Amino acid sequence: MAKALALTSGGLDSILAAKVIMDQGIDVTGICFKSAFFGSDNAEKMAAQIGMPLIVVDFTDEHLAMTKKPKHGYGKNMNPCIDCHAMMLNYAGRIMEEQGYDFMITGEVLNQRPMSQNYKALEIVKEESGYEDKILRPLSALNLPPTKMELEGLVDRNKLYGFSGKTRKPQMELAKKLGIKEYPSPAGGCSLTEPNFAARLKDLYTYDKENADSHDIRLLRVGRHFRITDKAKVISTRNEEEYKALKELITDDMLVFDTAEHKGSTIVLKASKDHDPTDEEIELAASIAARYSKARDEESVLVKYKKPKDAQYNFIKVKPANDSELKSLML
Ligand code: SF4
Repeated sequence: MAKALALTSGGLDSILAAKVIMDQGIDVTGICFKSAFFGSDNAEKMAAQIGMPLIVVDFTDEHLAMTKKPKHGYGKNMNPCIDCHAMMLNYAGRIMEEQGYDFMITGEVLNQRPMSQNYKALEIVKEESGYEDKILRPLSALNLPPTKMELEGLVDRNKLYGFSGKTRKPQMELAKKLGIKEYPSPAGGCSLTEPNFAARLKDLYTYDKENADSHDIRLLRVGRHFRITDKAKVISTRNEEEYKALKELITDDMLVFDTAEHKGSTIVLKASKDHDPTDEEIELAASIAARYSKARDEESVLVKYKKPKDAQYNFIKVKPANDSELKSLML
């Protein structure tokens, strides 16, 4: 029996593509990827729904490095989809060879996304993956030249589809026909496509790209972020849940601020590597801590701060930051 490896993103298209090939009597195993920007939960749920075994690959470091300098640039936000697809297919291709699969399947649909799924982009992805003649796109196959797998009779081209464009209707109809009832919304899953997250990532890559690691990426998801200087950022929390999440991510080099005499939210100052926060940066961070406290309307507020392992607090009196100042710094 022929064996295929199906790239499984966790969305509807990739699972439809896998099921279409499975229904041709081919032995299909899914493969999904985990990185700093997306996890494997949706892929695991979707694979389980069609009874498909799933290989989970964590390629965090390599993927993160790629997002800093994608050869084919970014999409609408910070999503380097062409490079990302090619990287996934290259990884999957190596596993295909090592484990004796005959070919790979993707859920790509021609012209579904203007930048990453037009005809030219699909060709680039294929070429750059290094496994050009081993990639089948069952949902758009009828709009593409026949692949080796179809020409050699491994796959029946008559049972493939010719979907194209942004409309989701044909996929939803096919899902119904194939008994796939639950699937996430098309946008979900990858932080690189989320505008707010992308703005923070863009800031991180503007000021500290070289050192940015997966810890920095996790931090981008917590609280409010303020770029106060080229070398320093402030993060504040809005509620208990965010405070708990931030607490997990505080490192020994950060300065942690709290108002000394009033209730307020915890503020963290994160400086770039090898940069000691200046007096001005400390004062600004303290003024943000004062602004997000019960003393926000006072003229002068006492704020304490220290690094997590310091035995003693430092104290500083500041005027709370005003709203327009905060707005200009907020990411
Ligand atoms: S949306 Fe995210 S996971 Fe999907 S190809 Fe683009 S960058 Fe990669």
